[in-house]
Amino acid sequence: MVLKRLARVQERIAGACLACGRDPAEVTLVAVSKMQDAAAVAALAECGQTLFGESYIQEALPKMDATPPELVWHFIGHLQRNKAKLAVGRFALIHTVDNLDLAQILQKRAAALGITQAVCIQVNVAGEAQKSGIDPDGLPELADTVAQAPNLTLEGLMVIPPVFDDPVGARPAFARLRQLRDGLKTRLALPLPVLSMGMSGDLEAAVMEGASHLRVGTDLFGQRL
Ligand SMILES: *Cc1c(COP(=O)(O)O)cnc(C)c1O
Repeated sequence: MVLKRLARVQERIAGACLACGRDPAEVTLVAVSKMQDAAAVAALAECGQTLFGESYIQEALPKMDATPPELVWHFIGHLQRNKAKLAVGRFALIHTVDNLDLAQILQKRAAALGITQAVCIQVNVAGEAQKSGIDPDGLPELADTVAQAPNLTLEGLMVIPPVFDDPVGARPAFARLRQLRDGLKTRLALPLPVLSMGMSGDLEAAVMEGASHLRVGTDLFGQRL
């Protein structure tokens, strides 16, 4: 069952890559395991999936301790300031830095631990109220701050697009994220390889717009309880 679901998602990624002439090796699948238990993670890990994404710190940390140590974890949820330091050093990549205070908290903690923390900036490309992510207007200042933080490395950008009935509706948001990334890449002279975009319903559109990391939950694990 899990193996079939994983194979199906991998086929969809391969199909989308074929359609736009990309190498599937350029696209990384993050298995979003929020609301799934350690046994479900272990079952998917048995099928060869090693990278998992979590959205809530309190849920993630015990699960990480209860699953095979060789798994790699990304943080993809909204990071509250009072929990932020708990994420530093535990996640190979934090996708969701979206304000200057948060960047400062992460920098301070990474410095205290004597490590470098890889992060992405989450952008609210459509300027939706109530949604996490920095507005495109504020992105240059935040990107400068993160890029200059000695214990953070800026890897790229992340978006959660507006919800559409038709998955193709998200495509302009994905294209916009790529444009913003390309602009920063030139201005900061950094590689910025990560474009974290695309979920179960719209991963094909994301691949076509250049996604490097797809965050897929439902289509790998089934509906969340
Ligand atoms: C839950 C979640 C996902 C996975 O969404 P699915 O539709 O279940 O694939 C991806 N990204 C973020 C930020 C999420 O919170």
